[in-house]
Amino acid sequence: MDKVSTDAYNGIVLAYRRRFLEEGRDQNRFRIFSVLASRHRVSRPELAEETGLSRATIAVLVDELFDRGLAHPVGLGSSSGGRPPTLVEFNPNAAFALGASMQDYQWTVVCTNLDGDIVDRETSAMPDQSPEAAVDAISTCVGKLRQRACGDRLLPSIGVGTPGLVDMHSGVIVSAADMGWSNVAFETLVEEQIALPAIIANRSKVAALAEYWYASTTGVQDLIYVTVGTGVAAGIIHRGELYLGTNSSAGELGHITVLPDGPACACGNRGCLQQLVSEDAIAQRARMALRASNDGALMEAVGNHPEQLVASQVLSAADAGDPTALTVVSEAADFLAIGVANLINLFNPQVVYLGGPVIEQSPNMYDRVAEQIQQRAMAYPLSALSVRKSTFGSEAGAVGASVLVLKQASSFLFSASQKHGGTAATAGK
Ligand SMILES: [Zn+2]
Repeated sequence: MDKVSTDAYNGIVLAYRRRFLEEGRDQNRFRIFSVLASRHRVSRPELAEETGLSRATIAVLVDELFDRGLAHPVGLGSSSGGRPPTLVEFNPNAAFALGASMQDYQWTVVCTNLDGDIVDRETSAMPDQSPEAAVDAISTCVGKLRQRACGDRLLPSIGVGTPGLVDMHSGVIVSAADMGWSNVAFETLVEEQIALPAIIANRSKVAALAEYWYASTTGVQDLIYVTVGTGVAAGIIHRGELYLGTNSSAGELGHITVLPDGPACACGNRGCLQQLVSEDAIAQRARMALRASNDGALMEAVGNHPEQLVASQVLSAADAGDPTALTVVSEAADFLAIGVANLINLFNPQVVYLGGPVIEQSPNMYDRVAEQIQQRAMAYPLSALSVRKSTFGSEAGAVGASVLVLKQASSFLFSASQKHGGTAATAGK
């Protein structure tokens, strides 16, 4: 090998070694970060034991975490003789994640810390149902949050939970029948308007992620989140991962057939669950029932204009004991329970969470669905199941969307391209 090619060769080896060392260090940082984020307070020897790294490596990388503000030294741990160790404490407020989602045509954007706890929030209603109005609403909320406390430590991305079928690979909403959207390049629209990389997913899927983020600390690995509002959908977590299916459309619970000759659906089928239990369906069925029965109390509540009846009025009337409303809500609950029981038999989850405005507004609806699930699902999967109301209510989608960003937090915080001591907050501002 002549001199020139030897130098070139050495240069390549050196560059490769540097890259390898840098990537190796990143992997070690990921491991320490993940132990620290889940344990919160650990000693250096415990970090060494749990990550399998040498104490010398731990010492260097923990100092780096201190420098970056991701952790700080605290108190003294228990000791079995000798010098008691200083503990390393995680700082969940070192960086924040943005998550957005929509419910009843209103967008909520939350700012969560590295623990997934909400530290700030904003809401904005959509003036119309267009995708542009949706992006404007998100942008308005993000603009306000950027001006406040979490604004200078934001991770450089936003998660967005959207209605409809989402192709997560391309970031396109393939169809959202209840919004009248088809083939909307929503991820690009968000990125262009708020100048941050976006990750979009169906809002029920991200709501499932929100529940998993918290429930996993108690050993839950398999759960299903069911949303009932303008649409109906399920998010399925299997062994700690969101189950997406072949083209990220798994969980379309709203379009399973529960009544073969039932009402026509925008998906092209008839008798879809969504056509029997969504907000529109409940209002529609109550209007039909009212016209037939001329129920005094409910008719009075809508000023003798049954055509103006909305789902929230039907749900409250049912909770107040109105017989017509009770019949409509019970029928809807029974259809929903059939759909959920089928999911339980198919997936055998540990927990089913019920959420969305229809569930949140009506204790009666929730109770009836929970009771009917016990009648409909098989005894054996039921023996391992608990049914719960959504932990986060109307913010479930937004919290879950922020989890899409939090899942990548260590990549944002430690990417090899990022300068040491830099913050994750400045990108996209
Ligand atoms: Zn359908």
